[in-house]
Amino acid sequence: MVDIAHLNTFGLRAHARSLVQIHSVAEAQAFLQAKGSGNEPVLVLGGGSNVLFTKDWPGTVVQLCLQEVTFTPVSEAFTDVYAGAGVVWNNLVQQTVARGLGGLENLTLIWGWVGAAPMQNIGAYGAEVKDTITQVHTLDAATGQARIFSNAECAFGYRDSVFKHTLKGKYWITGVTFRLANNPRLNLNYGDIRKTLDEMEVNEPTVQDVSRAVAAIRTSKLPDPRQEGNAGSFFKNPEVAPDIAAALQARHPLMPNYPGAGGLIKIPAGWLIEQAGWKGHRRPHVGVHPRQALVLVHYGGGTGAELLQLAQDIQADVSAKFGITLSPEVNIL
Ligand SMILES: Cc1cc2nc3c(=O)[nH]c(=O)nc-3n(C[C@H](O)[C@H](O)[C@H](O)COP(=O)(O)OP(=O)(O)OC[C@H]3O[C@@H](n4cnc5c(N)ncnc54)[C@H](O)[C@@H]3O)c2cc1C
Repeated sequence: MVDIAHLNTFGLRAHARSLVQIHSVAEAQAFLQAKGSGNEPVLVLGGGSNVLFTKDWPGTVVQLCLQEVTFTPVSEAFTDVYAGAGVVWNNLVQQTVARGLGGLENLTLIWGWVGAAPMQNIGAYGAEVKDTITQVHTLDAATGQARIFSNAECAFGYRDSVFKHTLKGKYWITGVTFRLANNPRLNLNYGDIRKTLDEMEVNEPTVQDVSRAVAAIRTSKLPDPRQEGNAGSFFKNPEVAPDIAAALQARHPLMPNYPGAGGLIKIPAGWLIEQAGWKGHRRPHVGVHPRQALVLVHYGGGTGAELLQLAQDIQADVSAKFGITLSPEVNIL
């Protein structure tokens, strides 16, 4: 058995039967063809920043460490950027902003690797990665055959894609192509970006400035998994029908809310958890972060089962108090 505690940002104890690191598409295809229809369960893992191991993995963990990055100008307006699945997400963002390309700057400092970015359509500070992805390069996990998904075929949604549901586990993502703007249009309207740029005394911001501002905000607000094991937001922000939101608003006039998809109303999960009294809740090994109610923390020495129990207790309590079911954003294994 191989120790994989260092491969998840919760730092939770877990083992796998074996760990395989793959460095090229050809190697990945050879692995899949050799595996054939064998019963050994295979888990593809990137940076392990969106998984909760509740038990050992009963098979092989594969990391697709493909590191290629290419920049291809396609017109006066756009440059296509291809990145292999194993490129650290924030390293890719830094390479694109260094070239002045626009599209990924608001997604600065999100943890993990490029291969997982389409999985849940990562998003932050008013941007989602789906707005820049043109192609997701994959291998069929059963046959090793290559397939390229267009943006539409990925069925991206809020923290969602076809790879998280209908095609879960069926495709290995080997790389992603992004179309980035040569003359960026900056998105400064979300959160404290403008205020932070003002504090940085930046009057005419570039993509690099926006990236620096987002990095500063995130660093001040989010706990660093290297110090306190966590996977960022544990739950998705629930989206409810307007009449339900209105009824809740009548009972809780200060409840924040935002327009969601398809006319639904998005309510911050962190607000619900905080109102239910969980912010700062601490059990011996796990807890709810004292500054970020949406972040569940492993303080060390605990198990994934303890963390899952905490998550389920929060879900039950929020459901009882608000009639809203919180769905985990983190992949529970
Ligand atoms: C401190 C912190 C802050 C965060 N902030 C944000 C945020 O602002 N916005 C946001 O959207 N997310 C955020 N996250 C969550 C996380 O960063 C993203 O979900 C990220 O994309 C996960 O990447 P990973 O490589 O670590 O994926 P992993 O955790 O390794 O895997 C996640 C899932 O994808 C699958 N997978 C991984 N790679 C592949 C592949 N190549 N092919 C097929 N399947 C694959 C895995 O099997 C698993 O189901 C945060 C996490 C942390 C720790």
